[in-house]
Amino acid sequence: MPKVEVDLEKCIGCATCFNVCPSNVFIIRKGKSYPVNAENCVMCRACIVHCPVDAIRIAHREQKSAISRLYGEA
Ligand code: SF4
Ligand code: SF4
Repeated sequence: MPKVEVDLEKCIGCATCFNVCPSNVFIIRKGKSYPVNAENCVMCRACIVHCPVDAIRIAHREQKSAISRLYGEA
C-alpha cells in the first residue's frame, strides 16, 4: 500500500494535489493538505510533479518492509 506524506511545514494549501489526484487522496483543511485516503493512491505521481513547493513524498510500504526484513530491522 502506498504511503503518502505531506510536509506540512512546506505545504501552502494551494490545493493543486487535491485537484490533480485521480484517486481523491487529499483533503484541504485550514490551508494544509492531508492525505486521508492514501490507500487509494495509484502512484501516478501527479501530485509530486505539480506541487509547487515539493511537499509530497510517496513511499511503498511493501518495499520498505522488504528492506526491513533484508536488514533485520523491526
Ligand atoms: S501519486 Fe497520484 S494517486 Fe497518489 S496521491 Fe499523488 S496524485 Fe494521487
Ligand atoms: S500541491 Fe503541495 S503545496 Fe499545494 S496543497 Fe498540495 S501539498 Fe500543499
